[in-house]
Amino acid sequence: MILIAGLYACYRVPVTGRKQLNMLPESELSAMALTSYKQFLQNSKVVSGTNDARQISSVGKKIAAAAQRYLKLHNQSNRVHGYTWEFNLVQSKDINAWCMPGGKVVVYSGILPITKDEAGLAVVMSHEIAHAIARHGNERMSQALLAEAGGIALSLYLQQKPSQANVLFEQAYGLGISVGALLPFSRLQETEADKMGLVFMAMAGYDPTEAVGFWQRMQKASSGNVPAFLSTHPSDEKRIENIKEFLPTAKKYFKSIK
Ligand SMILES: [Zn+2]
Repeated sequence: MILIAGLYACYRVPVTGRKQLNMLPESELSAMALTSYKQFLQNSKVVSGTNDARQISSVGKKIAAAAQRYLKLHNQSNRVHGYTWEFNLVQSKDINAWCMPGGKVVVYSGILPITKDEAGLAVVMSHEIAHAIARHGNERMSQALLAEAGGIALSLYLQQKPSQANVLFEQAYGLGISVGALLPFSRLQETEADKMGLVFMAMAGYDPTEAVGFWQRMQKASSGNVPAFLSTHPSDEKRIENIKEFLPTAKKYFKSIK
């Protein structure tokens, strides 16, 4: 019992230090992610060779490198163990972006009018990369599995009910096709991804203050029908306040590389 408690205590979210419990094996989730990711790309129009596509790749690489630098400094490199980063732009009117465990990042072209420029793109990509590194999808998947199948091992559930397991996975990682089926990240997870994302973007050389403008533009975009991204990442005054509160901390990382 003590040994188990000791193992659980090893899971601490970077930047915030929150303890994580009841986590599924990240290696199994990464394997599921790779399958979903490949299928998604096959069924999507991947944009390559354009300025936008090049920008997504270059911003993504900078943020991933910054995140890895942060993790290394804090002895948490195991968080990205086995990650092979990939950054893709897909042609879609949907306003969305995500990062899967294993480092597979997808940006939908529909979000580009809201990110507006390179710094805005850095806000979204660092936020999504933060969700993956914080293992928020893992927490959501583990809760969903508990509710659905009473704490059965993921590998066993995959053998017994592969299609249900995939539905749970896609919901937990924000990949669901219909917006209604997506689970919103919790407020706690959103705040965590915001804080981590601000640190990562600052370390990558982007002014974290840009996050305020991005979330304000996102808030405006939510009048009318709710984009997929907003249904999983609710944007409101409280979020923007929280970001402003954390900015002085994030800016320390920005200055440190100037
Ligand atoms: Zn989020």
